Amino acid sequence: MVVILKENPDPRQLDNLTKWLQSQNLQIHTSSGVHQTILGLVGDTSCVDMDLIRALDIVEDVVRIQDPFKSANRKFHPLDTVVEVGNAKIGGGNFALIAGPCSIESEAQIISIAEEVKKSGAAILRGGVFKPRTSPYAFQGLRAEGIKLLLEAKKETQLPVVTEIMDISQLDLFADIDLIQVGARNMQNFELLKQLGHCQKPILLKRGFASTIKELLMSAEYIMAGGNNNVILCERGIRTFETATRNTLDLAAVPMLHSLSHLPVVVDPSHATGIARLVEPMTMAAIASGCDGVMIEVHNDPAHALCDGPQSILPEQFDAISRRAAILRETLKK
Ligand code: PEP
Ligand code: MN
Repeated sequence: MVVILKENPDPRQLDNLTKWLQSQNLQIHTSSGVHQTILGLVGDTSCVDMDLIRALDIVEDVVRIQDPFKSANRKFHPLDTVVEVGNAKIGGGNFALIAGPCSIESEAQIISIAEEVKKSGAAILRGGVFKPRTSPYAFQGLRAEGIKLLLEAKKETQLPVVTEIMDISQLDLFADIDLIQVGARNMQNFELLKQLGHCQKPILLKRGFASTIKELLMSAEYIMAGGNNNVILCERGIRTFETATRNTLDLAAVPMLHSLSHLPVVVDPSHATGIARLVEPMTMAAIASGCDGVMIEVHNDPAHALCDGPQSILPEQFDAISRRAAILRETLKK
């Protein structure tokens, strides 16, 4: 349920209304726009008398929201949410390129890629250390040692960093990580989502490869229900009957998510296609669809990468994409 207030509500009446709603065990999310303030009510609103609230002097209207996601809902929070990741911003007109290797393999590898992608305009450095691999015999990531290397690259370049968490027991290692990724395979690990809701770090929530847009939003809701509103959604391709690409990049999800939710939306063309030469065209398409950022896998030696080499591009290719992305973004503003 949302309560739409009239312009410049009397502070005393607003305080009385807030206290009364809280006494009904409802959580209140206040969203203040230039002309209008909206109170989003979360909890069991079935017993709330809408007519009583509507009759108050300071209230313009009361609307019941049918969608099961509340905090993530644009009706609750009409303005775009801007998530700050270190010194980078994503959402509400702020665009960020996230780049780096699928997996951190060595100090020399991550530092050199970090320096290159920074030069080319990346705002955030990625690097996996806890890797969710289909085969238990495949490279599983450098784990705690990898976090240390990622933090060294952060120190060298001053870039904020993102890496994936697979289990809440790893959270202590993430103290200096700027953005915590929840991967596609964990999008519905509800216990993990609940725990991440209790920290205030930004979360990059990737869409599960067999998950609907609504399910992605419900997973965001799990994090936000715990009090953490710093959620960035990521479209990374879904599994369809098509086998020519690793996944099918669902770009309609970008404007659809933007209409349903105020959260920023990032696109990952690397995992979506699985093919390096498709990364550039799909990055451009993602930008044209209105996304708030793109996450790209970059490797200095894709042929020998320990994970996801076929979809990884070289730093010079990333440089070209970054330039063309900037031109496209300028063109779209006209
Ligand atoms: C990744 O970003 O490294 C990754 C494993 O992605 P996803 O969870 O989308 O497969
Ligand atoms: Mn990968």
